Amino acid sequence: MAGQQARQAGQTQRTIHVGGEWREAASRATREILDPADAKPFAVVAEGDERDADAAVAAARRAFDSGEWPHTPVAERAALLRRVADLLVRDRESLGLLESRDAGKTLEEGRVDIDCVADAFRYFADLVVGEGGGRVVDAGSPDIHSVVVHEPVGVCAMITPWNYPLLQASWKIAPALAAGNTFVIKPSEITPLTTAALVDLLVEAGAPAGVANIVTGPGHTVGARLAEHPDVDLISFTGGLASGTKVAQAAAVSVKKVALELGGKNPNVVFADACQTDEDFDTAVDQALNAAFIHSGQVCSAGGRLIVEESVRERFVAELVRRAGRI
Ligand code: NAD
Repeated sequence: MAGQQARQAGQTQRTIHVGGEWREAASRATREILDPADAKPFAVVAEGDERDADAAVAAARRAFDSGEWPHTPVAERAALLRRVADLLVRDRESLGLLESRDAGKTLEEGRVDIDCVADAFRYFADLVVGEGGGRVVDAGSPDIHSVVVHEPVGVCAMITPWNYPLLQASWKIAPALAAGNTFVIKPSEITPLTTAALVDLLVEAGAPAGVANIVTGPGHTVGARLAEHPDVDLISFTGGLASGTKVAQAAAVSVKKVALELGGKNPNVVFADACQTDEDFDTAVDQALNAAFIHSGQVCSAGGRLIVEESVRERFVAELVRRAGRI
């Protein structure tokens, strides 16, 4: 609840959580977070550096190597994830507003994001319970016994982009925790607020100290240190190609596991037979607009290219331009 109290009081918000405690940055540096609507600061957060990253990795390492979380029964880990989902639903309005203000989304998009985040926690809770631990596979001979055992990887470092801060964080945090890993997350330095709030909820839901750590700060210091750190077993990165390339290079030195979700440029294809009725035509135009312009078009999967069959091209483009002008 510490982070929540700080949010309400409008003080410097505690966004570095290491080994079960909220703390200032080792350097005591802070950063102003700007509201994209008016470019004015509306929050101040801790600005960590390599020392904070090291402390967080050490805490996550301890919690994994000698803590209870990796050995906690799957059903209990799933129960924690479900409690987090309930807390997200409880705080939907405040979190949706915070996400809207932090990332410059409409309030409705902010609320929908929180719903999807709660769904992600429930999804991975169900998935891990369904997996049910060890399993004997028929190896084709009575003399051969093959067993599939699911084990946590260890300490997972996570780096997320600015545009869907909490959704991206949840797609990394929920599966990692479900599987018994500990983690250190570094959200985008310009949109860190809801990720810190999520760590607050994890603490409230009962995550043991050291299991859930967050360090806010720049990519070239905190992010780079997490990527290269020898005590990190896996790094999961979502962001642009240039940063992802650096993460992959840094991670290669210690040959850790790497997951990269990078930028994209996606085509939407509209054929004439999808525009046969006026209703279908309207739907196709709306979906093309939605694909290109939702969240001001700042989406990794945005439909930034449109390929339209020649026979409907003129009508389609004219209507698309007319509607785009009204956004
Ligand atoms: P970015 O690459 O600038 O930053 C992403 C994260 O990487 C931030 O937390 C940043 O601090 C960190 N970072 C930067 N340099 C680093 C380094 N050297 N080492 C470690 N970490 C570093 O991207 P952004 O502007 O925040 O987000 C937009 C990009 O993310 C776009 O390219 C978009 O397509 C992509 N994206 C992809 C997905 C997907 O699922 N594939 C989803 C959302 C966004």
